[in-house]
Amino acid sequence: MAVTRKKAAPKKSSTKKSNTVKLKFDTGWSYDPAPESRSAATIKPQYDLFINGQWQKPSGKKYFATTNPATEEKLSEVADANAADVNKAVSAARTAYDKVWSKMPARERAKYIFRISRMVQEKARELAVIETLDGGKPIRESRDFDVPTAANHFFYYAGWADKLEYAFPNRQVAPLGVAGQIIPWNFPLLMAAWKIAPALATGNTVVLKPAETTPLTALKLAEIIQEADLPPGVVNIITGAGATGAAIVSHPDVNKIAFTGSTDVGKLIQRSIAGTNKKATLELGGKAANIIFEDAPLDQAVEGVINGIYFNQGHVCCAGSRLYVQESVAKTVIRKLKDRIETLIVGDPMDKNTDIGAINSKQQLETIHRYLDIGRREGAEMWESSCPLPRKGYFCRPTLFTNVAQSNRIAQEEIFGPVLSILTFRTDDEVIEKANNSPFGLSAGVWTDKGSKIFNLTRRMRAGVVWANTFNKFDPSSPFGGYKESGFGREGGLHGLMPYVDIK
Ligand code: ADP
Repeated sequence: MAVTRKKAAPKKSSTKKSNTVKLKFDTGWSYDPAPESRSAATIKPQYDLFINGQWQKPSGKKYFATTNPATEEKLSEVADANAADVNKAVSAARTAYDKVWSKMPARERAKYIFRISRMVQEKARELAVIETLDGGKPIRESRDFDVPTAANHFFYYAGWADKLEYAFPNRQVAPLGVAGQIIPWNFPLLMAAWKIAPALATGNTVVLKPAETTPLTALKLAEIIQEADLPPGVVNIITGAGATGAAIVSHPDVNKIAFTGSTDVGKLIQRSIAGTNKKATLELGGKAANIIFEDAPLDQAVEGVINGIYFNQGHVCCAGSRLYVQESVAKTVIRKLKDRIETLIVGDPMDKNTDIGAINSKQQLETIHRYLDIGRREGAEMWESSCPLPRKGYFCRPTLFTNVAQSNRIAQEEIFGPVLSILTFRTDDEVIEKANNSPFGLSAGVWTDKGSKIFNLTRRMRAGVVWANTFNKFDPSSPFGGYKESGFGREGGLHGLMPYVDIK
């Protein structure tokens, strides 16, 4: 890391021109900027729709801009697919399914998926830079987590393609047909990999739509898929907003819907497919409880909380946004948290020292500010880092609330920002009751020295994933998914194959 022993620049000059900020420590130390180069990425000024292995103009001839949330600059414009384009993409996927993909020996399918994973690795730097420019997440995250984990998903599911008889012993499995896949903006490339890899491994074909604010890495993936010579129509990637997504969901020739996004849209999708025989997996919102017991290694736990809610701007559906601390250590934990938060660097996502990048869109920043107001009005006490923010772009200081009541909206609703609500508890039973008292049930964390407590909690928590003495850890072989309003179905691991097959 580029730590220099310079006196920190005065506040005024620190935000000049470059739109970067320098973090000042009490000692007078500061970090020099360490920006990743943009030159690693080729972004075309305009993207069409990737249908049937070719780039096709949208039939409505409409395009919309995608911008860099850290600078508010336009990066490119992408096609707005209408119902006719969706129809074209679904027909291409159907033909590819009937004529090629469902007939191809599984080991041959595997070779294509392996090829895609290797190409994602080869283009890792470019993909990471584009992910950061388009979505605002720190380059450290996209470089060290998003892109390698996306490649790992393709590798992992390529391995399953010709071993389905071992995944489902003594059963016969058949693909479903055409999968319509709709993904959000928080992990654009990784979500595309989560969706496409198991679908292809099980012999399905795909129509995928990335989120309207972060389409660029999915379009890069389309270029990779084209270069990998995947038979035309096996994967179609089309861009657009909610209406495009809705057209995919309601298309009669789509056999399966895989959706990750908000609970509200998840409910709309369920309504739209009710009465059809479309299969669906929905991975929706979350309000994860992160629980610290008095016997936990506190410094490690504090680091886990920071990782759970502040890194990645809190743009994670499994973010640990509710912290439950045992009363006896609450004061210490809150002090340690504030000290640590003060050292977090908020700013240019392309800078390798940045901990918290840009909020994904103006609209999302407004939502976060609305919740900060709600929290204050509900009587909770708000504290935020004193860090400077860049003048341009959508940024939010890491913030925490104390004096939060279980019924407060900031303890119940998903904020999707770097905002932590802190509550306290005395006993195991009390914290389990409080943690489960949520409309969501995606993930949770528990910090304690005692193995028995971990087992007690993981057994009784209504959450799809419970991390013990760690947080936000992912691996392609572990299933992920929620209970209650967090959706249903699992992605990842052997479980992630099931939603894409008919088991006989
Ligand atoms: P978020 O609040 O995380 O942006 P959304 O649920 O609004 O989540 O968006 C997730 C994805 O769902 C995006 O790709 C978006 O375009 C798509 N989408 C939005 N509305 C609909 C809809 N009515 N039907 C299908 N997809 C939709």
